[in-house]
Amino acid sequence: MKVLIRGAGVAGLTLAHELATRGASVTVVDKRRQVAGNASWQAGGMLAPWCERESAEEAVLSLGRGAADWWSAALPGHVMRNGTLVVAPARDVAELDRFGRRTSGFREVDAETVAALEPDLEGRFGRALFFTDEAHLDPRKALLGLQEKLVRMGVRFEFGYGAVQAPGTPDIEADCSGMAETRPGLRGVRGEMLILRTSEVSLARPVRLLHPRFPVYVVPRSENLFMVGATMIESDAAGPITARSVMELLNAAYALHPAFGEAELVETGVGVRPAFADNLPRVERDGNKISINGLYRHGFLLAPAMARQAADMIQGHETKKELSHEAHR
Ligand SMILES: Cc1cc2nc3c(=O)[nH]c(=O)nc-3n(C[C@H](O)[C@H](O)[C@H](O)COP(=O)(O)OP(=O)(O)OC[C@H]3O[C@@H](n4cnc5c(N)ncnc54)[C@H](O)[C@@H]3O)c2cc1C
Repeated sequence: MKVLIRGAGVAGLTLAHELATRGASVTVVDKRRQVAGNASWQAGGMLAPWCERESAEEAVLSLGRGAADWWSAALPGHVMRNGTLVVAPARDVAELDRFGRRTSGFREVDAETVAALEPDLEGRFGRALFFTDEAHLDPRKALLGLQEKLVRMGVRFEFGYGAVQAPGTPDIEADCSGMAETRPGLRGVRGEMLILRTSEVSLARPVRLLHPRFPVYVVPRSENLFMVGATMIESDAAGPITARSVMELLNAAYALHPAFGEAELVETGVGVRPAFADNLPRVERDGNKISINGLYRHGFLLAPAMARQAADMIQGHETKKELSHEAHR
């Protein structure tokens, strides 16, 4: 079975992995020149289904709780299973109770435990919520690692407008083009982020800083890098980050630890999250065309489950086609 996947974001690459593992002949085409720069490239890489439940449906938890295992099996060594720490500045400490009421899967911890978990936050927060089973990965390393593995598995990659316009004759076409797909009801939610570098702070896990207006997280990466994210703006504009968002994100990082004030600001980025009205992803099929979209703020968390659903549908479609060929013989 020949499958053409349009889009080398997290949706397209996880589907390619799922299908190649099941023996399909897969080609991935992307209008960009490489696996970079899309919404997936800008992500925090948090695999945090319990925290996300604060604002998301139960389905995000049930579909997302297996994500860390999927990524660990696909890319051994990429997933860090250190949990998530949720803190609030003293004046917003009521936010912790509100967050706790809307979520599960955490332990309430005191200042001593905060210091044991994150020594650099010692004395900064009187209490916190510790989501023990959550994980994170570096999304850029994961995307590139997946691409490298897929090439070894025989998946073909073609980049640029030419590749997109001359796709050959696949048995199945899978649209994983995110915001580029013209699907009714799909909207964009703009997310702005920063990458800071400092050797003055070290964190073992993503830390979420609650704030009634502007909740922010800081995700540690290798080489003293920290991703600080992210805005949630109802817009599909992908233009440069605004000065206001830079100020808000930097303020939050500074509130988490003042040493971030001295950090190098090495990158700013913007990604547009594809979302449907209910903020839940969809796998949809129409004949030999299939689409995965609407991953919203949960691309790394939910793409594995969506890829599995799509691969099951594709296999079902092909089996039905074979059966009907048999019946017509
Ligand atoms: C700032 C930010 C932080 C985030 N943090 C997290 C997080 O911590 N955890 C998490 O799980 N999720 C997170 N997300 C959400 C996640 O990034 C998205 O849900 C995910 O990237 C969507 O993936 P996608 O593959 O659908 O789209 P994309 O990554 O946008 O990929 C779509 C691809 O399709 C290509 N394309 C477009 N048109 C065509 C065409 N005609 N033919 C071929 N290819 C085409 C594009 O070039 C692109 O490469 C975050 C998002 C943002 C913006």
